[in-house]
Amino acid sequence: MGDYVWMDLKTGREFDVPIGAVVKLCDSGQIQVVDDEGNEHWIFPHNASHIKPMHPTSIHGVEDMIRLGDLNEAGILRNLLIRYREHLIYTYTGSILVAVNPYQLLPIYSPEQIRLYTNKKIGEMPPHIFAIADNCYYNMQRNNRDQCCIISGESGAGKTESTKLILQFLAAISGQHSWIEQQVLEANPILEAFGNAKTIRNDNSSRFGKYIDIHFNKRGAIEGAKIEQYLLEKSRVCRQAHDERNYHVFYCMLKGMTPEQKKKLGLGKATDYNYLAMVRTLREILAIRPVDHVFPKSCLCSESISCMLLHHAQVDPQDVMNCLTSRTIITRGETVSTPLSMEQALDVRDAFVKGIYGRLFVWIVEKINAAIYRPPSHELQSVRRSIGLLDIFGFENFTVNSFEQLCINFANENLQQFFVRHVFKLEQEEYNLENINWQHIEFTDNQDALDMIAIKPMNIISLIDEESKFPKGTDTTMLHKLNSQHKLNTNYIPPKNNHETQFGINHFAGVVYYETKGFLEKNRDTLHGDIIQLVHSSKNKFIKQIFQADVAMGAETRKRSPTLSSQFKRSLELLMRTLSGCQPFFVRCIKPNEYKKPMLFDRELCVRQLRYSGMMETIRIRRAGYPIRYSFVEFVDRYRVLMPGVKPAYKQGDLRGTCQRIAEAVLGKDDDWQIGKTKIFLKDHHDMLLEIERDKAI
Ligand code: ADP
Ligand code: MG
Repeated sequence: MGDYVWMDLKTGREFDVPIGAVVKLCDSGQIQVVDDEGNEHWIFPHNASHIKPMHPTSIHGVEDMIRLGDLNEAGILRNLLIRYREHLIYTYTGSILVAVNPYQLLPIYSPEQIRLYTNKKIGEMPPHIFAIADNCYYNMQRNNRDQCCIISGESGAGKTESTKLILQFLAAISGQHSWIEQQVLEANPILEAFGNAKTIRNDNSSRFGKYIDIHFNKRGAIEGAKIEQYLLEKSRVCRQAHDERNYHVFYCMLKGMTPEQKKKLGLGKATDYNYLAMVRTLREILAIRPVDHVFPKSCLCSESISCMLLHHAQVDPQDVMNCLTSRTIITRGETVSTPLSMEQALDVRDAFVKGIYGRLFVWIVEKINAAIYRPPSHELQSVRRSIGLLDIFGFENFTVNSFEQLCINFANENLQQFFVRHVFKLEQEEYNLENINWQHIEFTDNQDALDMIAIKPMNIISLIDEESKFPKGTDTTMLHKLNSQHKLNTNYIPPKNNHETQFGINHFAGVVYYETKGFLEKNRDTLHGDIIQLVHSSKNKFIKQIFQADVAMGAETRKRSPTLSSQFKRSLELLMRTLSGCQPFFVRCIKPNEYKKPMLFDRELCVRQLRYSGMMETIRIRRAGYPIRYSFVEFVDRYRVLMPGVKPAYKQGDLRGTCQRIAEAVLGKDDDWQIGKTKIFLKDHHDMLLEIERDKAI
């Protein structure tokens, strides 16, 4: 009695794992247990195989999961669960931080906490996002190398909040409290106003990805930053799913302006605008009214926010009407104007509004960068160091997935590969090269899926791109090409029959089906020449400015301008290159439930996230591996203070031998560290011990 056991209910469900339970009663072979969810069970002798004893480390949980005795999904899950119930939302896997969203404000982010975590080793204090931030900062200075922190997780898991906390910590400890630092912090509310919105999953969901690179001078003070943004979800400006909203800024504006300001700008309240309220979509309204020539005008120009935009765009109303209801086509040198159907007219209007908003967002980020970014001067370049924070949309799998989801999931495949490469591939390659004792650890590699999506010739992205540029290309011809090229690839799931318009991809985080309708249009992402002409005629300087590049381009160049996916692919490549040049930290955010509720832990939802993020294998490799390594020179010079009489590295004949002597003396001969051909390999706890001893010695 009082013993802890694992109980396997054998439900057969994909994300169900054994649950922890405590024995309440043991009576003539029958056992009564109460599981972690508070449910009672009777176990009879014939199904005793359903229970197994629990390892002592799993009973009350551990701060670092590489210490778990029960190294399986059930063990990891229970560890997170019992900590979560005590409001301990952070847990390590070596130096990787797992953060479970508490959905409530915990008193763990005060200035006092910042002070407690400043200048500490990982493991010296309980796991915390501040410890990761502190380590980034410390490593940057100690190793004189750029650092990055990759924050991943599903929508609503807590990535953006984690990013802000790291930023807050860095600003606090870097010391200067300068104007520029203030600007960096204040950029966030602006970005969130224009780029975040309420969705079903998250009340403050970021609808764009961002990489904030924070620059430090040689004294370690923040001297600037640069923000890179990825793929704002433009469609939200015109359409939102049930129970979702448009970008925050519209509601803020309508709520926050004085009546005079609103009057001056001709603004009403949120419910006046279909784009903001989505009570009924325009198409629904149209369905219940006769479709005549007068109606389009009112519906295009008075019922929606486009009216507001057009009002301020200062263009001739007649030009606007022409532009939205007809299209100019040049055939054999002749200009012909053809009328648009209602559907087409609405699409043109929406495309225009999306075009404005997308460019506005890019402009805002440029403006912010102009305020916070200082290009490095030549002599500064060598001493400037940076910490980059990546907060990018997590893996998405909705009922209907479109081109945007493909881009987002493509980005996530890239990040997963970066993680896999860093944690598994490079690590094990190095052990082999250095000839240390090592048992290979298997892991799930997503390189094949990534190759199919974007790397190998005729990959999915390139086929979509090719078809987007092909004048006769349609979503259907594109799907045909995808099928004929990839139908034999195990990561590709072709449509079941000729009528189906979906294809599937087997991503590292599960299979996603993509609806191809609208793919090419979204990828082309171009505005019709008539619209550009209209903008050109605008008297509004700002509108003209944000469309400047489009106007300057000319019609032919515009047609050949880079597609959305090729731009995105390029910016991802740049991002990956930047990340590869940094020492990475990983924060894995976990969403404990779908209801945004505190203290509610959905076991299956969590198992799915842990499984897809490769957490099991990560723990296994972190436990077996040696995350800390030094070249012999670095090691001798850093730790020779721990052994009186050891000369600096450049005066040493046998560096390897000296390393060995220091390690044996400080860490113990039989502890699990290893000496390779050129480096010494250590565990996190060795590093901590060495650093503590060094602090004492100097
Ligand atoms: P993501 O960026 O991953 O989509 P967010 O960072 O926006 O998710 O988090 C969603 C919501 O969860 C936040 O608005 C906040 O209410 C809550 N949340 C996330 N992290 C924390 C935290 N550390 N403490 C308290 N609440 C949090
Ligand atoms: Mg976010």
